[in-house]
Amino acid sequence: MNRHFTKTVKVGNVAIGGGAPIAVQSMTNTDPHDFDAVFGQIKRLEAAGCDIVRITVPDKRAAETLYKLKCAGTAIPIVADIHYDYRAALDAISAGADKIRINPGNIGGEDRVKAVAEACVKHGIPARVGANSGSCREEELKKYGGPTPEALCESALAYARMLRKYGLEDIVISIKSSDTAGTIEANRLLCENKEYLEAPHPLHIGITEAGGGTRGLIKGAVGIGTLLAEGIGDTVRVSLTDDPTAEIAAARDILSSLGLLSGGYIDLISCPTCGRTKINVIGIYREISAFAAALRPGRRIKAAIMGCAVNGIQEAREADVGIAGGDGNAVLFSHGEIVKTVPETEIIPELEKYIEELTGSYE
Ligand code: SF4
Repeated sequence: MNRHFTKTVKVGNVAIGGGAPIAVQSMTNTDPHDFDAVFGQIKRLEAAGCDIVRITVPDKRAAETLYKLKCAGTAIPIVADIHYDYRAALDAISAGADKIRINPGNIGGEDRVKAVAEACVKHGIPARVGANSGSCREEELKKYGGPTPEALCESALAYARMLRKYGLEDIVISIKSSDTAGTIEANRLLCENKEYLEAPHPLHIGITEAGGGTRGLIKGAVGIGTLLAEGIGDTVRVSLTDDPTAEIAAARDILSSLGLLSGGYIDLISCPTCGRTKINVIGIYREISAFAAALRPGRRIKAAIMGCAVNGIQEAREADVGIAGGDGNAVLFSHGEIVKTVPETEIIPELEKYIEELTGSYE
């Protein structure tokens, strides 16, 4: 898959753009003044596979939380999310933020954008700017009659231009909207834009306010997946009305589906079940999926849960470990070889044992 060329920006020790692995992001939703709560959630996000975490910094006290996080040796890069008060951005930068996310449209004038851009340059950190349906510039809203893909694209370019004017070159651009098709179109327009091609800042992609459950997952997967398949996007956030760790699992599944996930992953293959199914494939899948989510293999491991011999034997043979169901039992395969037939009650423990061994032996 050819990826659009973008410059490289460093966020702490994580590179974004320039062909670097696509970084997975999420945002904490705990009280930014409660250090223990933020710290605990960041640790859970890190364990889930998050590469970069964002926290909201609305005031000085929240910047103090950020400072304490850095003092506590938090390894994962931290992005400070700023709205309205540019002084919070300056405090966050002094506190050690690895990147700032600002909305130049709501921090009160260009002199304040200048102050933030210059502080970023001084501390050697990047800033993310961009546009979403709620942060389009007035100029573009008037010109296009609303937050159209053209308006979003031109607003994002104008914000990036503003930061460059004050010497900041390390910029990440994001264009997001809750409208999946509009977000895709706006990002495509950006990647064809002459001004953007001359200064191809890396792109943060996602569908904002996508909702939760299956609806949110599908909107995020269609929007992010389409763009990534076209080579667009250097870092992703799957916005979900859910616990932030669910965003990481979703992002990793999207990247894995496109062969873009760096590092280890447990790929679960399972059949949709049909009238031939004589074992509880759905229940087995749920158990194994929850079990696998907690493991961090050092490589890609494929496990197959198949209801019968029709497609099951081939899929199970091709997996590192797999089962093909029979009537109240299943044939267990390991690396293409039949190991044994196990009764239905033993399928879950046997699969867990094999998956754990595969994970452990490659750590
Ligand atoms: Fe049906 Fe067998 Fe296919 Fe599963 S593998 S969907 S049980 S035919």
